[in-house]
Amino acid sequence: MNINNLHQSFQEEFDIVGIIKTDRYFSEAKKINLKLPITKFPTMVVLGLSYPKRIKTSTKTELYASFYTFGTDYHQVLKNRIIKVMNKFSLAYELGVDNHPYDERLAALLAGIGFFGKNQLIINQKYGSYIFLGVVFIDLEITEEFTLPIIDNCGSCRICLDACPTKALNNNGYDFNKCISYYNQEKKVLSSDEIKANYCLFGCDICQLVCPKNLSIKPKLHPEFELSGKEGVNITDLFTYSEKEFKKKYQDMAYLWKDKTILMRNALTLLLRSKNFDYNDLVKRTIDKQSTPWYHETALKIIEELEQIKKESTLI
Ligand code: SF4
Ligand code: SF4
Repeated sequence: MNINNLHQSFQEEFDIVGIIKTDRYFSEAKKINLKLPITKFPTMVVLGLSYPKRIKTSTKTELYASFYTFGTDYHQVLKNRIIKVMNKFSLAYELGVDNHPYDERLAALLAGIGFFGKNQLIINQKYGSYIFLGVVFIDLEITEEFTLPIIDNCGSCRICLDACPTKALNNNGYDFNKCISYYNQEKKVLSSDEIKANYCLFGCDICQLVCPKNLSIKPKLHPEFELSGKEGVNITDLFTYSEKEFKKKYQDMAYLWKDKTILMRNALTLLLRSKNFDYNDLVKRTIDKQSTPWYHETALKIIEELEQIKKESTLI
């Protein structure tokens, strides 16, 4: 089995490829006190797949998530591409895309996929931070690593720190509890501050949009990430469809990887933000029907305000 062939096959499917020794990854993880499950495989392939920036603005009837959700769910796209490559080789392997216990950003840094930006993302010279990451542990010993040189860094820039609306990025690093992209994907009651700050159906793009390293890049549009027409979520669907009906209509979208109730809760924050009370009756029905406590509590808070807005508007 020739590692060069494997490397080349991955290069045919991915925009950025590095191959590192698992031992080095674990010893670096130990230095920063990361506790990770041990793998029996000695080599780690680290992969990056570029995606383009596409901004869509929510309307009175449709809401949008962060643009990394546009096109087919990247978890599936990366997994399919990895499996396609690995099927050519008789090697045992374990793959991971996003929802696995290993720190992909550390692996990406060690493989030279990019530098670690102050916005906490890996930034590649050619594709900026608009890259999906994946890792594959393979059952093959290597003598030499395939790494890329890292020739850039944030320097004295602090644009993302200043632009972050919740100050999740600050001089001390990153406070994930304050990050919109973190909390709007969590199954929890949103506080009043969190409700007020949320502006996106799922995720947050601000610290990537403002980053100067993302300005002169040339991202690729891989066919799987072509717009599917399901990027905008119809608000009526959200509050009337069952989980099953919703997943059937919006299948393959990355914003589905938690569940619809998270989108409903986030949608409520957007309705409040835009003072859109057109859906109050539908929302009230979901409150009566939905037993999920964190949805119930957040929705009650928001609907009360939306009802007040509706009442005031009829007085004008
Ligand atoms: S994703 Fe949004 S909230 Fe989170 S750090 Fe970036 S700008 Fe701040
Ligand atoms: S905005 Fe500036 S500080 Fe933030 S990640 Fe980009 S280059 Fe680094």
